[in-house]
Amino acid sequence: MKLIKKFIPYYKPYIGVFLFDLFCASVLSIIDLAFPQFLRILRSTLFLEEPKVILSRLGILALALIVMYVIRYLCRYYVTYQGHMMGARMESGMRKELFDRYQAFSFSYYDTHNTGEMMSKLVSDLFDISELAHHGPENIFISVVKIVGSFILLLRINVPMTLCLVAVVICMAFFSISQNKKMRATFSDNRKKIAGINSSLQDTLGGIRVVKSFTGEAIEAEKFDRSNIAFLDSKNANYRRMAWFHSGNNFFEGLMFVTVLVAGGFFIAKGQLTGEDLAIYALYINIFINPVNVLVEFTEQLQKGLAGFERFTEVMETMPEIVDKDDARELKDVKGVIDYEKVSFAYGDEEAVLKDIDLHVEAGKSVAIVGPSGGGKTTLCSLLPRFYDVTAGSVKIDGTDIRDVTQKSLRSFIGIVQQDVYLFNGTVKENIAYGRLDATMDEIVEAAKNADLLEFIESLPNGFDTQVGERGARLSGGQKQRIAIARVFLKNPPILILDEATSALDNESERYIQESLDKLSVGRTTITIAHRLSTILGADEIIVLDEDGIKERGNHKELIKKGGLYEKYYRMQLGAV
Ligand code: ADP
Ligand code: MG
Repeated sequence: MKLIKKFIPYYKPYIGVFLFDLFCASVLSIIDLAFPQFLRILRSTLFLEEPKVILSRLGILALALIVMYVIRYLCRYYVTYQGHMMGARMESGMRKELFDRYQAFSFSYYDTHNTGEMMSKLVSDLFDISELAHHGPENIFISVVKIVGSFILLLRINVPMTLCLVAVVICMAFFSISQNKKMRATFSDNRKKIAGINSSLQDTLGGIRVVKSFTGEAIEAEKFDRSNIAFLDSKNANYRRMAWFHSGNNFFEGLMFVTVLVAGGFFIAKGQLTGEDLAIYALYINIFINPVNVLVEFTEQLQKGLAGFERFTEVMETMPEIVDKDDARELKDVKGVIDYEKVSFAYGDEEAVLKDIDLHVEAGKSVAIVGPSGGGKTTLCSLLPRFYDVTAGSVKIDGTDIRDVTQKSLRSFIGIVQQDVYLFNGTVKENIAYGRLDATMDEIVEAAKNADLLEFIESLPNGFDTQVGERGARLSGGQKQRIAIARVFLKNPPILILDEATSALDNESERYIQESLDKLSVGRTTITIAHRLSTILGADEIIVLDEDGIKERGNHKELIKKGGLYEKYYRMQLGAV
């Protein structure tokens, strides 16, 4: 009931179409109800009048019937077309809402939800909702009008016989309701299993390179089989329930006819019913049973639609963890002073990754973070664009707490180059332009030049319009990295985060890319997470970070002189080269 209440507001923009749809639906039902009455008129005309009168009346009757059917046709057209479109529009609106919400979620949401599941919500759940949105009210409406109408007409023909019929209908209703709950559970299970298939497929296809290079096809096939079979099992349970439901209902339908046959025969024998009445009665039973069936089947649609809507509202009622304050300001004219003050951070309820970190970087200066893998370097950097919020302490840019400004303005001042570069399916130009969507072609070319990419792009068959392939599959690691660098050149932010930007590359590309990165960091406050210490020798400050916090800080010379952890790392890497 609560769910239905939440559902109703979605009709609001379509109230006109909705009401007219219901109006057409009621006209449809009334015409169907009127039909047997026509037969009665026809009989009295044909058997009671003179042939001449019959002929003239026949014409009028035919005309009336044709008008009736034309109206019925128009109503049916409207209900089928506009009614469905109303559902589709609602679906499309909800899909947009859901998409926006997905995009608004903070990283913590993506850490704990898988994309396959999100996809199935966007596609199949919403389709079920749309079907319900359109057919639901209309089916209820048509059915109720027909049931009530035919019931009254049945009563007028014979009261005791109709009461017998009602007894059967009540039994049928009890049966349907008892089956309902069980069926709903199987539908919701179906949905979950489909989401499982989606996420399995997405995982395999997303990692297809890894799969192939480790010849993991068999393992992947096995994993897929598991979710595929789980879905089949779930369908099995579902169809068994449905079979029970439908065949049970058919049985009750049969019982209704038996009831009428026996009761009708009985009343005819007693002289309380005419043959004509019984014939018309049988016609009305059809009109009566049909909507009862529709209602019964509707319960199935209702279960599906509500299960989908429940999952939809679940997402819509989850608020993104990180939202702008109501009075959030725009961050403006950033010089690039960064301060971490007593910052602690933990992922969810896990143990703290960062404890009491203090860090100050002057505008335009560079700080390098080194330390063991898992020490929290990436985490530390992801606090600056507010991918996650600090658990304690604060992060400031130019003295302003980043929680006091809008996320959009904050992120517009920060450029990030990471180890993994994500390229969108599209052209080289589109991928570079992602750095600043309103950039002109000249600016894009300039950015490509700054990233030492121009020569390469010009050697491509279609230049800037060359397709990069899915996730940039047609480019090398170094080329992808340069596109990422060009993006940041285009964005031109005062603050730069380089998170092991070159560590996935071979030594030679690394050296070249490093030159571009050095060029990129000129005049920007830069936080570099370095894998290879040779790249950070010139940093204004080097910080050694491990699980327990900041171990050492100072410039290269100072730290070497100190002869601590940094000196040890440095010696190790020297030895390795
Ligand atoms: P580094 O970049 O220094 O290698 P990270 O900042 O990536 O280290 O990770 C620090 C710790 O936080 C690790 O123990 C890692 O397992 C954990 N961690 C990283 N990302 C997440 C996440 N999204 N959810 C939960 N734990 C995470
Ligand atoms: Mg890292």
